[in-house]
Amino acid sequence: MIPGFVYQGTPSRVVFGTGTLARLPEEVDRLGLRRVLVLSTAQQEREARDLAARLGNRAAGVCAGAVMHTPVEVTARAVEHATGLGADGLVSLGGGSSIGLGKAIVLRTGLPHIAVPTTYAGSEMTPILGQTRDGIKTTQREPGLLPGTVLYDVDLTLSLPVPMSVTSGMNAIAHAVEALYARDGNPIVTMMAEEGIAALLRALPAIVGNPTDAAARSDALYGAWLCGICLGSAGMALHHKLCHVLGGTFDLPHAETHTVVLPHVVAYNARAAASAIGRVGALMGTADAGTAMQALARRLGAPTALRDLGMPEAGIERAAELAVRSPYWNPRAVDRDSLHALLARAWAGAPPM
Ligand code: NAD
Repeated sequence: MIPGFVYQGTPSRVVFGTGTLARLPEEVDRLGLRRVLVLSTAQQEREARDLAARLGNRAAGVCAGAVMHTPVEVTARAVEHATGLGADGLVSLGGGSSIGLGKAIVLRTGLPHIAVPTTYAGSEMTPILGQTRDGIKTTQREPGLLPGTVLYDVDLTLSLPVPMSVTSGMNAIAHAVEALYARDGNPIVTMMAEEGIAALLRALPAIVGNPTDAAARSDALYGAWLCGICLGSAGMALHHKLCHVLGGTFDLPHAETHTVVLPHVVAYNARAAASAIGRVGALMGTADAGTAMQALARRLGAPTALRDLGMPEAGIERAAELAVRSPYWNPRAVDRDSLHALLARAWAGAPPM
């Protein structure tokens, strides 16, 4: 029997496909916008300028200042930039950093926001914004932060370097895994989570074999979209808590941290969330999803140890402490000692258990 549930759909318009960037002017017109500001990181400035050129006089300018973790000073400058240009909308091009800057500007100005994602992180499908002030990252969730239009163009992901494709794909899988055992999960989210994980499991090895494999890139972006919906629709648990603490405290890279930690949380929660983790195992063809997840990361050339990401061993204690201080709900109870043991294994790249 299907238990009763509440399902809240993500009310955004999604355009998905190959070559869809050509439809961006149409999407801008659809919202009645005349002067959009294009946002990107410095690394993607050239692509942002190309995109602005494509928009012609619909583009007011380019702000290529987005960086990871959305520092409030960067946002303040971008808001000034947008206001100075008289921008009436935003187009964020890139991964979670560019889209995060878009959301942060929306929070302060209410401007309409079109997201054009180029990684698999999934921020475009969530009403969540994490911002950093004085080195402290805080997260908020507000319906108005969800970008109104999301344009997925598979072509834009062909340039995503293979290591980032793998870790960003694992980041997406992590959203779906936690949605499968979320307290507020439901059959629709479960369906999207399973489909998202399956698509990424198919795609990632193929991308490693051939980064310009159009079918694999399409699968990966489709999977990332579904996993992003999972992140936006269901409460996240221990895995996201740990990654948030590790990223915020030790400035570890986002996608890589998710990749290293996920197998350990999957193993930790395996018994308490037997049905959910059983589904992940079934998709991976094994009864031991944690071990399989770590083996997959290793096979795809991704990092499997936090120490390789620059985390100091002495940080294990502090991270365990911070994670139990304000825990997210998790299917298995957490305490300082068990988190310390989990983090010590993740730090060393030891097998998950
Ligand atoms: P990112 O946006 O920082 O991108 C990493 C680097 O890759 C950047 O230099 C970027 O310019 C470059 N890049 C992106 N796409 C590329 C492409 N196709 N080709 C070449 N280079 C490309 O990384 P991310 O992992 O996507 O995002 C991480 C940030 O997003 C973190 O701050 C994280 O907290 C946030 N995030 C937020 C949410 C949310 O729902 N609020 C969800 C996921 C991630």
